[in-house]
Amino acid sequence: METIVIGIEGTAWNLSAAIVNETDVLAEVTETYSPKTGGIHPREAAQHHATYAAGVIRDLLEEGKKNGLKASNINAVAFSLGPGLGPCLRTVATAARMLALSLDVPLVGVNHCVAHVEIGKWKTPARDPVVLYVSGANSQVLAYRAGRYRVFGETLDIGIGNAFDKFARSAGLSHPGGPKIEEYARNADTYVPLPYVVKGMDFSFSGLSTAATDALKSNPIEDVCYSYQETAFAMLVEVTERALAHTGKGEVLLAGGVGANMRLREMLDIMCDDRGASFYVPEKRFMGDNGAMIAYLGLLMFKAGSVTDIGKSHVNPNFRPDDVDVTWITED
Ligand code: AMP
Ligand code: MG
Repeated sequence: METIVIGIEGTAWNLSAAIVNETDVLAEVTETYSPKTGGIHPREAAQHHATYAAGVIRDLLEEGKKNGLKASNINAVAFSLGPGLGPCLRTVATAARMLALSLDVPLVGVNHCVAHVEIGKWKTPARDPVVLYVSGANSQVLAYRAGRYRVFGETLDIGIGNAFDKFARSAGLSHPGGPKIEEYARNADTYVPLPYVVKGMDFSFSGLSTAATDALKSNPIEDVCYSYQETAFAMLVEVTERALAHTGKGEVLLAGGVGANMRLREMLDIMCDDRGASFYVPEKRFMGDNGAMIAYLGLLMFKAGSVTDIGKSHVNPNFRPDDVDVTWITED
């Protein structure tokens, strides 16, 4: 019988719920929080999710019904245990528990980072890639080895998306800053030297972001945005390349909202080309936070028997991808 799972995402700014089966997304409903001023306020975002959760789930079931799906067809309810903003995680976990109880199906608590990886593998030909996962709060280089997604490199402070957003705010740009930085960078003339920080296999963006803000005092915003991107992306590509060399894998998969950036894609593409590796980028709607990725990882885990007791479904804002026992991949 076909497996069908509902997933709810709401670790930060995007409240999104989806229904998937093994081959496709059957329905998806999203309600995005956008801060009026400044960056994401955790409690405001959680309040947003609390306000819209019931409506989003109702609309989702309605949309499913139009596609011939009954509530009784649903096998499990998935949600993110973490990582993410505590108040947001708790709000969505409450909604997921209630939905699982009312549908009388198991609950599956998933890791948000691993969900980004699995949807990328689902929606591209990538099979066993080195993954560059770059989002607002997270920046990691991941790859599967012996039952876990190992973290080969990661940020020592903030995620690249948040670093971009923070710099953009200091330049008077509204949230989210990433796409605006990309736009400005297209019209740059010169590279302004900025600190390139790779330590071992890890990277750091906080100092770079501050240096970029300082550079605005004496350089045009276009040049600073360009230089910021070039520096940060070179750091990310360097670590991704070293993970490829170390693991001997032949594929790179890009995941997370910052993956929308065309310059980052171009740099990764050049590196992969040089090494004879394949480079994969999923459709944009599967790159930033989305309900489908939670539902899909929930489906993989449900099929592997990895479900979550409601009594043990407490969230973990610092949940690491390498803490997850990968039960759904059988061959190594
Ligand atoms: P996520 O947390 O995965 O949903 O990604 C959100 C982050 O992606 C935010 O920090 C955005 O600023 C960033 N972002 C979105 N589009 C772009 C882009 N074109 N270039 C750089 N960053 C981007
Ligand atoms: Mg994310």
